[in-house]
Amino acid sequence: MRYISTRGQAPALNFEEVLLAGLATDGGLYVPENLPRFTQEEIASWAGLPYHELAFRVMRPFVTGSIPDADFKKILEETYGVFAHSAVAPLRQLNGNEWVLELFHGPTLAFKDFALQLLGRLLDYVLEKRGERVVIVGATSGDTGSAAIEGCKHCENVDIFILHPHQRVSEVQRRQMTTIFGENIHNLAIEGNFDDCQEMVKNSFADQSFLKGTRLVAVNSINWARIMAQIVYYFHASLQLGGPARSVSFSVPTGNFGDIFAGYLARNMGLPINQLIVATNRNDILHRFMSGNQYVKETLHATLSPSMDIMVSSNFERLLFDLHGRNGAAITGLMDAFKKDGSFSVEQERWTEARKLFDSLAVDDAQTCETIAEVYEQSGEVLDPHTAIGVKAARECRRSLDIPMVILGTAHPVKFPEAVEKAGVGKALELPAHLSDLFERNERCTVLPNDLKAVQAFVSQHGNRGKPL
Ligand SMILES: *Cc1c(COP(=O)(O)O)cnc(C)c1O
Repeated sequence: MRYISTRGQAPALNFEEVLLAGLATDGGLYVPENLPRFTQEEIASWAGLPYHELAFRVMRPFVTGSIPDADFKKILEETYGVFAHSAVAPLRQLNGNEWVLELFHGPTLAFKDFALQLLGRLLDYVLEKRGERVVIVGATSGDTGSAAIEGCKHCENVDIFILHPHQRVSEVQRRQMTTIFGENIHNLAIEGNFDDCQEMVKNSFADQSFLKGTRLVAVNSINWARIMAQIVYYFHASLQLGGPARSVSFSVPTGNFGDIFAGYLARNMGLPINQLIVATNRNDILHRFMSGNQYVKETLHATLSPSMDIMVSSNFERLLFDLHGRNGAAITGLMDAFKKDGSFSVEQERWTEARKLFDSLAVDDAQTCETIAEVYEQSGEVLDPHTAIGVKAARECRRSLDIPMVILGTAHPVKFPEAVEKAGVGKALELPAHLSDLFERNERCTVLPNDLKAVQAFVSQHGNRGKPL
């Protein structure tokens, strides 16, 4: 499989190269040159497979040429073997034909484990083969950092540095990062906000001289391997609900358009999906585009669903590429306009096409809490605020009660106790067994000033298993 850039000017890469690449050299994002397409018979024949075997069948075409089948199978079995539920991604029924796909049974209790547990193992496999080492520098407002650290902690060939805003992530989220020890794991608490952290990561990609030749790898959702891993659970959910003979709808809590883009790809790969609902919080750039053809950057609002607090959706460029007939020059034009003006609209027919593909809704904090309370009353289930946004959007946008509606359950509610309390749900939430002593564990973390030079100096001093690069 070859991968091409959404801006049309960067060289095509194979899977191995795309795994190690961040942004393409032309500033674009990598996408598969040709999407694999499965027949209904093929998909139907996968019913009843364990998760890792289904994952093998869905993802195999993306890695062909880079990873032999036997090795890929082994990696997948290991990856999904660490999940705490035997079904890996169980479905839980809320109402008549309404289901939550629980994607929070991984080590860090959010869906990002599905991709980052795999990414860590793929990186180590590929680097071992190449005899290379890499450094990861990533920024997090919470969920990505812990999932990336958990995914890479056993990697022999990866040193990972995660920047989080000092005293601005929740205690559970911080402890999930700082209580994992390893000579290749470094938590940096930056005396600034999340944007400062992200800016430092961006600048580090732009000028990598501080790395003395060591390669820098991206762990945010611009990395193709993350999207790829998320395609699998759409197939998994559908097969459990009578697919592919029966069509299924999905409602997806979204920030960077990563998770929902994976659903769009699943549909293009042959999975019968009826509705795909984009569910955002008050930071609703995607909803404003879907409902009014206005992609406009606005100020950031802090919400009860912080993992979806974004101003700009990085993966949206991948959809725009398809909407524009995969014309890289058109995307370059749009992105240049966006950089200059902070906004763009697309041609009417392209927007109409997007409207056919997606429904959307923006849900504010008050509605999020109402939904948590409502679902708790109806079913006794406690939802996390991100999942609650998905449920609200599903209920508002649903077109047919006969078609199963699956809401992606993106996090365990224990990670976001503030929203659950505000919703007035009295039920005490307990950490799952593997994290039950989280609050007693020792922490390791370095506080650094909001200064790029200080961060880069730290990385080059510790980037080779704790020793200088
Ligand atoms: C990251 C995250 C999201 C948003 O996912 P995108 O891929 O950015 O759309 C939603 N919910 C939770 C809990 C998350 O951690």
